[in-house]
Amino acid sequence: MKTIDIVLAFLIFALILTCAALLTLSAAPLVSDAPVSPSPEETEAPPAPTLTTRPSPSPAPSPSPTPDPSREKLLTLVNPWNSVPEEWEPELTGIYVYTLYVPERGEIYVDSCCFDDLVAMLDACYDAGGNPYICAGYRTHDYQQMLFNNKVKRVIEETGCDPDAAEMIAARSVAVPGTSEHELGLAVDIIDWDYVYLDEGQEDTYTQQWLMENCWDYGFILRYPNDKKDITGIIYEPWHYRYVGRELAAEIRDSGLCFEEYLESLS
Ligand SMILES: [Zn+2]
Repeated sequence: MKTIDIVLAFLIFALILTCAALLTLSAAPLVSDAPVSPSPEETEAPPAPTLTTRPSPSPAPSPSPTPDPSREKLLTLVNPWNSVPEEWEPELTGIYVYTLYVPERGEIYVDSCCFDDLVAMLDACYDAGGNPYICAGYRTHDYQQMLFNNKVKRVIEETGCDPDAAEMIAARSVAVPGTSEHELGLAVDIIDWDYVYLDEGQEDTYTQQWLMENCWDYGFILRYPNDKKDITGIIYEPWHYRYVGRELAAEIRDSGLCFEEYLESLS
């Protein structure tokens, strides 16, 4: 064999070995300690929860679309010194049970936020042997004006006093337009069907006694108690109930304060 053939054979052999080595390397698994970039999905995943205490359970969805009333709405004060807020717009729902329908006055409405509690309260009162009827709910400003004008007229007829004095007397029992809780849609007058008079005799009826004892559990307060006339500016009305929601009603009951005093205690 010539020398050149030997060299050529060696080179071919070396080339075959090199190719075999390269093929072996390319088939080997890739092992690296370099950081692997996360996939886009991983970078967008939410961080792991870091809560150390169990979160409170989510409230069950309400079957009603009516949103919960705000605390600010429930605590809105309307009295002889505080008028109905100008921007106030009640969302009204008609009450067709336990109502005293008077044609010229029309149907009785309340703000939707108190509808369920009101009906539940009257159902419970009825089941307990009471005979409750709503004789007033939401009033428009114009209707309150008409009631007030009528009252002033009656006072003048009965006492012969001048109109200014008559308005002052009338305001003790019929709110001056713009200062009636009935314009909020959060107040109702409830009477006993067996005693259909808006006077202090209501407190002797079983219906009122039940309501005064239990209204708090349904989010209502007896708004004008007998011993708070100077603070509320309104005579004792054992028939006028104001909705503030169950939580606040329980707080007010436990405090023993009337609404004005309770609000004062918060400030
Ligand atoms: Zn009333």
